Amino acid sequence: MTENCECPSEAGSETCEPATATSSVACPACAESGKTIDSLTLKAMLAHSLTELRETEYRFCRTTDCSVVYYSVDGKQQFSERDLREAVHNKHPDDDSVFVCYCFRHTPQSIKEEIVRTGGSTVVASITAGIQAGQCACDIRNPQGSCCLGNVRAVVDRAEAAESAAVQPTSSPR
Ligand SMILES: [Zn+2]
Repeated sequence: MTENCECPSEAGSETCEPATATSSVACPACAESGKTIDSLTLKAMLAHSLTELRETEYRFCRTTDCSVVYYSVDGKQQFSERDLREAVHNKHPDDDSVFVCYCFRHTPQSIKEEIVRTGGSTVVASITAGIQAGQCACDIRNPQGSCCLGNVRAVVDRAEAAESAAVQPTSSPR
C-alpha cells in the first residue's frame, strides 16, 4: 500500500508521505521562488526545539512584504519572524535597527551615521576584511544563510543618495 514510503519503519504511518506529494520551490504565501537554504542556517535561526525540523528541503523567502521567512518545499511547514531568533533584514530593508550584517553587527543606522559623519562608508571594506580574516559566519548568523554584502551595498547606496540629496538641495530648474 505504501510501498513508496521512505520513512523508517519506526516512524509509524503518521509520517508517511503520499508518493504523489509534489514539491514546490515557490513560497506558499507570496508565490515567489525562494532561495535554497542550508539546514544549518535554519537550525541556527529557529527559536523552537529543533525536533520540529524534518528531512525535507527548506527555502528562504526574500519578499519584503511576505511574512513567511522559511518554508518546507513539501508545503507542510512555514516559519515567520516570530519563530526565529533574529529579525530579518530582507523583511525590513528600511528598518534602521535591524542588522544588515549579522556577523559584524552593522545596521542601516550605523551605516548612515558613518556617512553623515564622514561623508563616506567603510563598511563594505571592513566586512570584506573580516571575511578575509575568516571571521564571517553568514551561514549561521545571517537569516538568509549567505553573504550580506549585496544587502549592505544596497543600504550604502540608499544612504549615500539620501545624504547627497540632503547636502545638495534639489537644484532649481533653469
Ligand atoms: Zn514569501
